[in-house]
Amino acid sequence: MTPDEFREYGHQLIDWIADYRKRVYAGEYPALAQVKYGELRKKLPASPPQERESFDAILRDLDQHIMPALSHIQHPAYFGYFPANSLLASVLGDHVSTGLAQLGLNWASSPALTELEELTTDWFRQMLGLSDQWSGVIHETASNAGLVALLCARERASDRSAGHGGLQGVPSPITVYSSEQNHSSIEKAALLAGFGRDNLRLIPTDGEHAMRSDALKAAIERDVADGATPGALVATIGTTGTTAIDPLAELAGTARRHGMWLHVDAAMAGSAMILPECRSLWQGVELADSLVINPHKWLGAAFDCTTYFVRNPGDLVSVMSTNPSYLRTQADSEAKNFRDWGIPLGRRFRALKLWFLVREQGVAGLQARLRRDLANAQWLKEQVDTTPGWKRLAPVPLQTVCVRHEPEGLEGETLDRHTLGWCGRINASGRAWLTPAQLHGRWMVRVSIGAEATERRHVQALWELMRQEAESTKR
Ligand code: PLP
Repeated sequence: MTPDEFREYGHQLIDWIADYRKRVYAGEYPALAQVKYGELRKKLPASPPQERESFDAILRDLDQHIMPALSHIQHPAYFGYFPANSLLASVLGDHVSTGLAQLGLNWASSPALTELEELTTDWFRQMLGLSDQWSGVIHETASNAGLVALLCARERASDRSAGHGGLQGVPSPITVYSSEQNHSSIEKAALLAGFGRDNLRLIPTDGEHAMRSDALKAAIERDVADGATPGALVATIGTTGTTAIDPLAELAGTARRHGMWLHVDAAMAGSAMILPECRSLWQGVELADSLVINPHKWLGAAFDCTTYFVRNPGDLVSVMSTNPSYLRTQADSEAKNFRDWGIPLGRRFRALKLWFLVREQGVAGLQARLRRDLANAQWLKEQVDTTPGWKRLAPVPLQTVCVRHEPEGLEGETLDRHTLGWCGRINASGRAWLTPAQLHGRWMVRVSIGAEATERRHVQALWELMRQEAESTKR
């Protein structure tokens, strides 16, 4: 494709995306794809074309075959996993990034890539009300950041074991602690970092699904008595299931007493901290070693954009650094090389999408949208609390409301079937998209509010639909 052909088809595609966004914001598609597994594959050739195809043919297939197999996260009735907003200003930033095709290997390979990443993460730090003791980098996902954090924790607790015998040379086991309500990525990170499942402690939670500080202390005491070394504590601000808030200030004290690495997972909820009124939720955050927030969730940056903040970049660089001759440059003594701040060597110009987003929306614009979502969640909470037969299963500190419809006489597995039934009927109707999840072994339904297009009327319509489906006699 020549630049002129690109211009022609690019304009066409921007129009196509703009039309799609208009339609999706208007709720014209089913929220959740209404297709069966394998349907799309059957419609497309199983082998690649030998000869060039026309761009028109590609676009035709996009319309005819790809579109019906999409679920629409930007739909106003998307109340699934978590808001995964991708505001159009950020989409354009992402386009620029791809078009410029920069390759961040070291500072010199794209000075702008490094420096804009330094700048935008620092802007975001200020927006979050964090002190200037934090330095940020952009990773792909919170899962990556969690792994990086636990690798740093491992090296601190094992006296830099990677430089000699690795964990195999460490005389006593190193233990990792997190809440039983943590995200599955933490467990995965602990296993990938080599701690071993036997040394991962999932700490029980309280009535609000937050980690119990007393249970953490007891677990650590038991481990220390058994000769283990407490190595890492992962606290969650806004758990995936219920947006529970671990008591960070208390946990930080415990982590500090035992010299443990404290990682704060605020993947979705962290964006709320651009609102000063929410910051009490993460009181104590300044005592952590590392912190992850995904602007690609609620804030609105196009996926993938994960900000990872550390208190002491030296801890990170000493674990992640590689310095082969071909990557060395004259600027190394003064410039940041972000390859030493994470796992991949080559890096995309991700900062552009965050920079475009923050500039086009302004901090005030972003704050207004998040406040709208918080208010919508409080409205739904009120409805659930005041409607007989409905039960709210968790506090609503942010934008997620966890509910169950509990008609008289239904319990245990029958109640589970009822919950999955009404939720499944809503999803199958395409009118809204909700995620059922288990809480302490029983099914509930999470209503995660905060798609860009979701206004109060959409939440009201959802509540009507939930009542219709759950309260009708078809069980
Ligand atoms: N941590 C929490 C609390 C999450 O809710 C999620 C995703 O839902 C993650 C981590 C993982 O995020 P990512 O997909 O960026 O790895």
